[in-house]
Amino acid sequence: MITFEDVVKIYPGGSTAVDHLSLELPTGKTTVLVGPSGCGKTTSLRMINRMVSPSSGRVLIDGKDVAQQDEALLRRSIGYVIQSAGLFPHRTVLDNVATVPMLLGQSKKQARAAAAGLLERVGLSAEFAGRYPAQLSGGQQQRVGVARALAADPPVMLMDEPFSAVDPVVREGLHREFLRLQQELGKTIVMVTHDIDEAIKLGDVVVILRQGGRLAQIGTPRELLEHPADEFVAEFVGRDRGLRSLSFDTADDLPVRPVTDAGGPELVLDAAGRPVGWKTADGTEDTAGTFTRADSLRVVTDLAITSPVGIAVRVGPDGAADGLVRHHDLVDHLAARRSR
Ligand code: ADP
Ligand code: MG
Repeated sequence: MITFEDVVKIYPGGSTAVDHLSLELPTGKTTVLVGPSGCGKTTSLRMINRMVSPSSGRVLIDGKDVAQQDEALLRRSIGYVIQSAGLFPHRTVLDNVATVPMLLGQSKKQARAAAAGLLERVGLSAEFAGRYPAQLSGGQQQRVGVARALAADPPVMLMDEPFSAVDPVVREGLHREFLRLQQELGKTIVMVTHDIDEAIKLGDVVVILRQGGRLAQIGTPRELLEHPADEFVAEFVGRDRGLRSLSFDTADDLPVRPVTDAGGPELVLDAAGRPVGWKTADGTEDTAGTFTRADSLRVVTDLAITSPVGIAVRVGPDGAADGLVRHHDLVDHLAARRSR
């Protein structure tokens, strides 16, 4: 666990970058610090590996004050990834990753073999190993940066806007890989971003900071979306938070009506009971949108909203229709859910 104990940072010149911050960041999870520009995210992150020292208060890792620890040992146990990847331009991709293990005493051969394995893990095939950073795309450089930070196998990883400098499509791919890798590795990760969607997607815990380095709220993505502490947080997490939070609940306990109870349109089924489409009074036919118990409420809502008859059809494991959800049923369910 990483603990911030009433941490204050005032830079020379007077501006308060971090204002009495107290936090507990869980081991083996991803915590994302998010907030507007200048709210003290980078400063907070850098106090963990002592690149910045607090003006008052303490930062502890597993109960030990980082200020009391050997600086070199501390840094070795903490990987650091920054936005521009920060690669050595005159070393190959492989050697960029192998450098740290070599500094830690591994032989060149060992370190290079390990580096090749890490590059593969972050999704870079062997053909990239001999290239120089300038010969890679931004997204590829970022992967090398992550591989290099992982090379010393640190229990803690700090990542400062690691995905902010790549275009949205590449970013999507990096997000997927990040989630896959973290599922395998279970590192204690502290990430900084200004993008609330990224924070919600990647964070097990999200810390929202506000101007002046003050804590606005800490919680799981779900807690922040469903129970924002104040107007600032509500505004920050966005107006469509209600819709987004539907991704967290499955349709498992969503009540359904019998398939015959569509209130007008008729659900046409094939011989095996699988939905073929809707037949309406004016004779038009439309495809039926289907979901399973395992789908999220977000999926059901999207189906009901986009269905011409305003109905989503639930199917069982065999694909046969076993219930209907009408648009207004869904609205009632969501209203009840919100007041829980
Ligand atoms: P963020 O990462 O959230 O954008 P920073 O932690 O970089 O915010 O900065 C927080 C505040 O501290 C800003 O007002 C910034 O100008 C100021 N600041 C950051 N680094 C320094 C520094 N080395 N010296 C003086 N002021 C700084
Ligand atoms: Mg920053």
